[in-house]
Amino acid sequence: MANDFIIKCINSVVKTILNAEEEIESLDRAIGDGDHYINIKRGSIAVQSIESELATLTPDQAFKKIGMTIMTSVGGASGPLFASFFLALAKEVSGESNLQQFSKGFTSGVESIMNRGKSKLGDKTMLDVLIPVSKKLESLANEGCEIQKLIKEIDLVAMAGVMATKDMMPSKGRSAGLAERAVGHIDPGAKTCQIIISTVCKELKKIK
Ligand code: ADP
Ligand code: MG
Repeated sequence: MANDFIIKCINSVVKTILNAEEEIESLDRAIGDGDHYINIKRGSIAVQSIESELATLTPDQAFKKIGMTIMTSVGGASGPLFASFFLALAKEVSGESNLQQFSKGFTSGVESIMNRGKSKLGDKTMLDVLIPVSKKLESLANEGCEIQKLIKEIDLVAMAGVMATKDMMPSKGRSAGLAERAVGHIDPGAKTCQIIISTVCKELKKIK
């Protein structure tokens, strides 16, 4: 993994997030407090603004820097959770990181969110996308899956994860207070994660 790929992904993610304003905002207005889009926008633009610095770093240093930048620029519940993902990922990847190592790092990032958020699969959060994606990514990477097939499968798992949040009863975050009134609504953090994962998948497709 090279930093120029990480930077390409950052730029693409910023574009996709800006295009998804209405969708993300309406989801958090329905079952949150309406600030999720602002939080995500602020974080992704803050990361984009340190691009030239990221270019000089190794991937592990870059992920650490991304985590620190999110930590200091994004509020709400999601800021520290996304930050902890990147900080844990940074500890697992190295300069010559391959897909297997990255998938291990991704899983470690997801576990870090679970620890920090005291949350698990089925709580109607971003983890309902991230946990299935991490499991699929690790198993496909370990079995040496062809990259185009891997991209397709990850995209599908992320989409299935976000759709599954719709019928879930929330037990973490602001939506938990709504109880059954939140049923029938997709979780905004899950949607954001799916959008980001799908954007990275599109960038991956271009290099192979
Ligand atoms: P806030 O909830 O503080 O307003 P955001 O609106 O930025 O923060 O983020 C809300 C999203 O964060 C939710 O949609 C959910 O996916 C995620 N989230 C909230 N609490 C948790 C938690 N404890 N564990 C995992 N994800 C969480
Ligand atoms: Mg919110």
